[in-house]
This record gives sequence, structure tokens and C-alpha cells, in this order.
Amino acid sequence: MWLLLNLGGKVAALLLADSAWAVAVACWFVPDAILAYHVFMPHAQGTLRAPRRFITAGREVWLTIDDGPDAEDTPRILQLLAEHQARATFFLIGQKAAAHPALVHAIVAGGHEIAHHTHTHPIGTFWCATPGRVRRELDAATDIFCRLGISATRFRTPGNQKSPWLQSVLKSRRLAPIDWTARGLEGWSTSPGAVADRVLRHLAPGNILLLHEGPGVPVGIRVEGVREVLGRLTRAGYKCVVPTAAQLASS
Ligand SMILES: [Zn+2]
Repeated sequence: MWLLLNLGGKVAALLLADSAWAVAVACWFVPDAILAYHVFMPHAQGTLRAPRRFITAGREVWLTIDDGPDAEDTPRILQLLAEHQARATFFLIGQKAAAHPALVHAIVAGGHEIAHHTHTHPIGTFWCATPGRVRRELDAATDIFCRLGISATRFRTPGNQKSPWLQSVLKSRRLAPIDWTARGLEGWSTSPGAVADRVLRHLAPGNILLLHEGPGVPVGIRVEGVREVLGRLTRAGYKCVVPTAAQLASS
């Protein structure tokens, strides 16, 4: 669909170039701008439909932690989750999972969910990855997970990049894309409190909260952001759960 829209725009622009140059310029660039919006803009659903919330009748949120596992952070985060009797989903990078199989097993042993976050986390190029590259990114990580005895059924794309090919590849691999309601944006934050302020700003039942682990998170916020968020959630009477597929289906 997106390919046809862009191709149609280019053909129309060429046909109109002599008679209506302004319309031709619009035909050339507007489809590109629309596509770029849906590929890069957080929550845009044009190229990939993914739930931003889940259905719940209780004071429940879904804590999701991206970019692990990490030798330093994962064990400490697991300890924090246990202290708060919280469950979470870890969106893991395949090659990191391969390097730290014991951490992957520890996540599962803690009662948490493992989900898919590509094999190499190609944040600079995933937006323009060919269908073959998308398939390789997905399949390589899935192979790692399978070797570790894990069947991941949920996927989050790196850096919000939603290429036009992604939806169909995910569907063929039976991976459900997951968006988020609020994120910590740790890389832009100056303190754990600022991370918690941002991710809990519009706290409500059914929110999907996105935090990160690993060296991409600034020193001083690593793990401490998770600690602050869990503390505030507990004090507010919220429980961290992993929703079922049915809770996500019509949200
Ligand atoms: Zn990521």
C-alpha cells in the first residue's frame, strides 16, 4: 500500500511537472512525508498497529524493560521486582541474550516474560531495512530464544522505527507488536526522579510503561530509575502485571 502510494505520487508528479509544477512538487514529496511520519513518529499506527494500553479492572500497569539483558543491571532489577512483588516483561536483544544465557534463565525463574527486541538492535537503519533484513533480525533472535527454551510472542521495534515491511514479517512469525503508553526517556533525564515523573505523569490502570536497562542509560539513572518507578507505583497502590493477549486484543 505504502509503496503504491509513493509510486503513484512520483508518476503523478512527472505527468504534472509541465502543467502544474506546484501540484507536481506536492505529489512528489507529500507521500514521502506521510510515510516518514508513520515510520518514525511514536504511536503512529499507519505502518504497524500495536496496542498502547491493556484492559484491566484493577490498579494495574505493565512494566516493560528494553535493551537487556545486562550483566550489571538485570540482576539488580530482578531483585527490585521481587521486593515489590512485581512482574515485568523484558524486551531482550538477541545477541545480548546469547551472551548472557544465565540472565535470561534468571528472568524466567523470577516469573517474568521474555519478549523480542530484534537481534542486533539496529537503531540507525531498521527504518529502511529490506524485508530480508527484517526477517534476519527477527529470526536470529528467535533462534537464540529457542535454544534457551523460550518462545517469545511479543515484539517491540527498536527506536520506534516501523518500516512498511515489519507488520507482515511479524505476522508471519506470530509476533505481536507492542507499543507503550509512557516512557522514561532515560537518555534525556537528569535523575531517577525525573524518569519517574515522566513515565508516571498520566498514571492510569492499563498503562504500558517503557524503561530501559544497560549502558545506554546514563550513570546515576541505571537501575535507580526502575527503583524510583517501582517505589512510587507501590505507594500509589498499583500492581505490575503482564497482561494476557485477550487484554491487549481490543485495547
Ligand atoms: Zn531498544
